Amino acid sequence: MNRRELLYGAAMGLTAGATARASVIPIDSSDAKPKPLNLADYEPKSMLQVRETRVERARFPVIDIHTHISFSAKSEAGIELSPDRKYLGQREELLAVMDRKNIRAMVNLTGGYDHGLVDAVTRYDRASPGRFYTFTEPSYSRFKEHNYPQLQAQAIEQAHRDGARGLKLLKTLGLYLRENITSGALVKIDDPRFDPMWDTCGQLNMPVAIHVSDPVAFFTPTDRFNERYEELNNHPDWSFYGPGFPSNAELLEARNRVIARHPKTHFIVLHVGNFSENLANVGEALDHFPNMTVDIAARVGELGRQPRTSRAFFERYQDRILFGTDATPHGDEFPQQVFNDRLYEIYYRFLETDDEYFDYAPANVPPQGRWRIYGIKLADSILRKVYNGNAARELGITI
Ligand SMILES: [Zn+2]
Repeated sequence: MNRRELLYGAAMGLTAGATARASVIPIDSSDAKPKPLNLADYEPKSMLQVRETRVERARFPVIDIHTHISFSAKSEAGIELSPDRKYLGQREELLAVMDRKNIRAMVNLTGGYDHGLVDAVTRYDRASPGRFYTFTEPSYSRFKEHNYPQLQAQAIEQAHRDGARGLKLLKTLGLYLRENITSGALVKIDDPRFDPMWDTCGQLNMPVAIHVSDPVAFFTPTDRFNERYEELNNHPDWSFYGPGFPSNAELLEARNRVIARHPKTHFIVLHVGNFSENLANVGEALDHFPNMTVDIAARVGELGRQPRTSRAFFERYQDRILFGTDATPHGDEFPQQVFNDRLYEIYYRFLETDDEYFDYAPANVPPQGRWRIYGIKLADSILRKVYNGNAARELGITI
């Protein structure tokens, strides 16, 4: 029996039993052959008829703790090497979106150091007080100088005088910085040469926004089993799989040792502690370290595909979660963090509604993985803390 005969038989059985030969449904045999389709061309449209709530403005004023308005003019092998800044968005164009979306303040984490930091603070924080806050970053280009630990601690003091509100670490530490800056063995996150820097931040009440590790799938092979296959295929340099890289677990353990060793320093562990795939693990760390908080930047896709676990997480840790997006003006090649109205509406919809099965990024193809998300409809008392209360406390400001 060939496939066509088999289908005829099945149709007969369904329609009128074994004897009713005349009522057979004709089936076009050309349907039987599967056609290849490039994964990148696949854009399935959901046929679900479910409620779509448009949340144009956040219910309470927002502090976005995690944005990138400027970046280093010179980078090599993943390491920023210049205090000079490049700017991604003009103040006026940012303010227009902020006013429409009820964003009270944006925190530009990548403000650099030295004259670059002064320039960034002048352009944004001083020009629009209360709307922009800038963080400083370590100057890795001096890492090989024998008194780097003291130099870097003094650089934090200078940055504080220049108007920096906190310190930001990119995933440089643990994954890019090497003994000879761009070559040699990787420098560990808990390397004691950074201890004076962490302590100085604590003394000056400057929170440390720290990006450690990355999505756990980035540490597994880029193959057909990888849930972020398309993302890694589009950005092969984001893979940390293979010899020469520490594991995700080793990185997180080194991070935890830093947080434990500096109890007076506040750590905002970015991207839900970079383990939003395992909120139980993040919760354990939060239980352990009172000086740790997390933001939700670029992880609304992870949180929104486990809405019940996420909601419980927000309820339990409502004083420890900060609103952040990783928003990058004109960052169109990374739709999950492009600074625009649509991005913020997705975050608000996730936090404020119980809508089902919607896109986590403004893109035709979900950029991080092929899933959609569900809203968690937080209570107003929790929303207020996540939108601004917790960030205001970390920044030492009032809203
Ligand atoms: Zn970021």
